[in-house]
Amino acid sequence: MINVKNRTLILFLSIVTLLISGTIVYSLVSSPADITGSQEKIVVAASVLPQKEFIEKVGGDRVQVIIMVPQGADPHTYEPEPSKLRELSQAKIYFEVGSGIEFEMAWMDKIKSLNSQMQIINSSEGIKLIPNQESQEPNQSEGNIASESDPHVWVSPRNAMQMVENTYQGLVNVDPAHKNYYLKNKENYLHELQELDSNIRQSLEHDDNNENQTILVYHPAWGYFCKEYGLKQIAIQHNGKEPSAQLIAQIIDEARNKNVQAIFVSPQFSSRNAEVIAQEIGAQTVVIDPLAPDYIQNMENVLKAFQNS
Ligand SMILES: [Zn+2]
Repeated sequence: MINVKNRTLILFLSIVTLLISGTIVYSLVSSPADITGSQEKIVVAASVLPQKEFIEKVGGDRVQVIIMVPQGADPHTYEPEPSKLRELSQAKIYFEVGSGIEFEMAWMDKIKSLNSQMQIINSSEGIKLIPNQESQEPNQSEGNIASESDPHVWVSPRNAMQMVENTYQGLVNVDPAHKNYYLKNKENYLHELQELDSNIRQSLEHDDNNENQTILVYHPAWGYFCKEYGLKQIAIQHNGKEPSAQLIAQIIDEARNKNVQAIFVSPQFSSRNAEVIAQEIGAQTVVIDPLAPDYIQNMENVLKAFQNS
């Protein structure tokens, strides 16, 4: 027979047991391995597709990513649909590329005005920008809002690592409770990027012919990659426009001099002029994408394309 005093004691012990197991369960579900269920995802917005992998690798299950410039669109000229802009009302944070890319120069004020609660993070904070090859041309056309710096910062895996650091800081700002989860994810992804960087560096170093190997491209998106790994980029497109006949003649001369075997085109642009030049010099056109969403896989493809050229 259990008396009142004992019942109170049993009740007390049961509550203590529940509290302790509750704490254990809570700490289990908040560990990085298992974040699911009741917690709502954080809506995170960014400009270009390579940022999607950066945000998802760090944010894991905690984030839902909106990318403003869709696949196949050109972030130098893209204008978002009103429906796309409306999605931003849900976003807690926006990661700008922050390198002066035209989409952001034209649209960031509007984007900020649509959601004043949204934190804005510059993903390029801490990255040294390099001058825009295009804007160094003497006959720069009027009315073109080409930026002074090369905006394609993400094509260098070293820069990507800095962007991932900034992504991590941003996510911790808006969701400090899951800092450890983000930290672990960030460290894992930085490790992958580190391996990618070493792989590219070694692959291009081991190639005997790569003393300032010249890369002939249609759209000059690869400046940071070339600078990081000792290549030289020549571009056909200038100031976002088709080249003049005179410039095409110059490019053909230089390409013959350097024994260029391939012209790299990207899916965002017509390759008509590149094909004309390729025929002229007996080279082939090869598609590489500076804006693919699967960043590491894509950069490995780019490396292979450069190695085979
Ligand atoms: Zn571009």
